[in-house]
Amino acid sequence: MNAPAYETDEPVLTEIRDGVAWLTMNRPRYNNAQNSQMTYALDTAIRAANDDPEIKVMVLRGAGKHFSAGHDIGTPGRDIGSSFARVGNWYDHAGLPGAEMQFVREVEVYLGMCRRWREGPKPMIAMVHGACIAGGLMLAWICDLIVASEDARFADPVLRMGFPGVEYFAHAFELPPRVAREMVLLAEPISAERAYNLGMVNRLVARDHLEEETAIIAKRIASMPRFGLALTRHVFNATEDIQGKRAAMDMAYGYHHTAHAHNSLTGTDNLSGISGKDMARMNKERDQ
Ligand code: ZN
Repeated sequence: MNAPAYETDEPVLTEIRDGVAWLTMNRPRYNNAQNSQMTYALDTAIRAANDDPEIKVMVLRGAGKHFSAGHDIGTPGRDIGSSFARVGNWYDHAGLPGAEMQFVREVEVYLGMCRRWREGPKPMIAMVHGACIAGGLMLAWICDLIVASEDARFADPVLRMGFPGVEYFAHAFELPPRVAREMVLLAEPISAERAYNLGMVNRLVARDHLEEETAIIAKRIASMPRFGLALTRHVFNATEDIQGKRAAMDMAYGYHHTAHAHNSLTGTDNLSGISGKDMARMNKERDQ
């Protein structure tokens, strides 16, 4: 595996205004594809915002044309074999044999971090424009609210690689179950308008007003008492988990890794030999 070539030292930017931390994924050249460098930087930024008494709420957004193209499966900065200072309890994944490497890595950087971010004390708003694909969905779904511009679209096309959805399996909780099945089975994007009509998106706004509208909502939340916000976040999370969200996700994680292992046993890699470029081409073909 080649050493990653990072295009930036600042994969996440933080700006603090009026009690709001604006966290910007900053890999616009690669549509904010999530490598470990960016994911760990995001974890650090979220923890810093949770620690900062001046901050009441966070906004998560992406620089450039899109919110996020998902997990990095092919940029020069792809770093799945690299070690980082871990934030969870599991041991380092780097260099492990068989299915263990991917399982342990994704426990840390996908399932583990998404849960940490969701379970933190301060509300988060996803400000979504352009594409929000697969791993991008995970970042939007861990937020309390989603504000989307009219050009936003949400998709999880990983069934093409044999996966029953991305690692953070919240699909059937975020969408009506049959729509969630459609999203995965057809690998087709759901428009921002449809997502809004289904209640997955809280506000649908023109692209030009996206930041302004998000700032208004963030400011309103920031006017609420801090401890009340933390308690509110917790009771909604806990209610979802009592309804089975956490258990369903643990179950789905095992099946997701059955697919990784199956791909490795039957093909050239654990993504069934499909590259980021292949996925982009298939999306284009589908849209024609
Ligand atoms: Zn995976």
